Amino acid sequence: MITPSEVEKIRAEFPMLSTKVHGHPLVYLDNAATTHKPRAVIERIRQFESEQYATVRRGSYTLGEEATEMFEGVRKKVQVFIGAKDHREIIFTSGATQSINLVANSFGRTFIGAGDEIVISHMEHHANLVPWQLLCLEKGCVLKVIPVSDSGELEMEAFKKLLGPKTKLVAVTHSSNVLGTINPVKEIARLAHAAGAKVLVDGAQSVPHTKIDVQDIDCDFLAFSSHKMYGPSGVGVLYGKYAVLETMPPYVAGGDMINSVTIERTTFAKPPGRFEAGTPPISQVIGLGAAVDFLTGIGMERIFEYEKSLLEYGTKVLSGIEGLRIIGTAPHKAAIISFWLEAAHPHDVITIIDREGIAVRGGHHCAQPVMARFGVPATTRASLSFYNKPEEIDLLAGALKKVIQVFG
Ligand code: PMP
Repeated sequence: MITPSEVEKIRAEFPMLSTKVHGHPLVYLDNAATTHKPRAVIERIRQFESEQYATVRRGSYTLGEEATEMFEGVRKKVQVFIGAKDHREIIFTSGATQSINLVANSFGRTFIGAGDEIVISHMEHHANLVPWQLLCLEKGCVLKVIPVSDSGELEMEAFKKLLGPKTKLVAVTHSSNVLGTINPVKEIARLAHAAGAKVLVDGAQSVPHTKIDVQDIDCDFLAFSSHKMYGPSGVGVLYGKYAVLETMPPYVAGGDMINSVTIERTTFAKPPGRFEAGTPPISQVIGLGAAVDFLTGIGMERIFEYEKSLLEYGTKVLSGIEGLRIIGTAPHKAAIISFWLEAAHPHDVITIIDREGIAVRGGHHCAQPVMARFGVPATTRASLSFYNKPEEIDLLAGALKKVIQVFG
């Protein structure tokens, strides 16, 4: 378990955590939206850009070859980090959103047709909902939705009934960005595969917080973003099983994704190149590699355990506040606490507590269907990281009590 003194050491690695907002030390509790960057990531990008920068995969001079080696080295780091079998299963994208859109536009438009079914859940982020709606509009396929229980868990019996010979894809989040629920993705993949469907896991909220093993989960695709895992923004990953990726046509076309081109005809590169048209986010990929090293250095199991203890503490403290209802009370949860305060709308809550330097998010969190499911227009959400401390939760609780006094 990460100890309090270790947390202090870790915090010292994050320059943003010693900034002030409205004269107060920043209390940053919006880690599900994006995370801050450790010095190791910032410094690695600085070093790369000032001493090693060149374009990659254009087979040229020494600097270009060295940069390519570093860039491809990150692909291998990510492979090991998520337990993939082969580094060619790692595709660099601009983020989880683009990763899912890639699957919808390439796999979806090729293998999902009129009358076919896609199963998602009622707790999906819009990034794992709207691309499937667009595909259904275009192809005439049908979206089926796994219901969510009052505690915020997927109703697995209902899920089993949704599966059938027409199911082509099951696309679910590993961990909900609103409820925190950690879904049984391994069991979901087993059931989906038995029905002959492929499985996409949205790992945007799980990859930064728990040990992931894509071979154990046995998903066909996993999508996630670097900026939520202490790396730079502008880069993300789509993992895909190689045998599946090989069957998929390109989504974005241009330089670097071809085998040969004549005016009449183009043949495409093998994955992952086929899906990485154009100059990639070179420095960002290098920064992502440093973030993976940083996380591995702390240890994903230890991160999960520590964040779990913070979640338990936060749940206890916040549920002790009268007029505060926690939304998402599944037993198996990531460190996200969404709540509704009787006294004030989330937008008022965040504006007031921001004056004390506390950063939490208020809104629908790009997950309007789950808001509708719980009968609220928005929630206030505290999302925790291994760099947060129990004292910060106390500060949040104190600030919320003041909000209640003012509005009550
Ligand atoms: N899925 C989930 C569960 C998320 O929380 C988010 C980000 N809020 C996304 C997908 C999209 O990630 P990005 O905006 O980095 O593409």
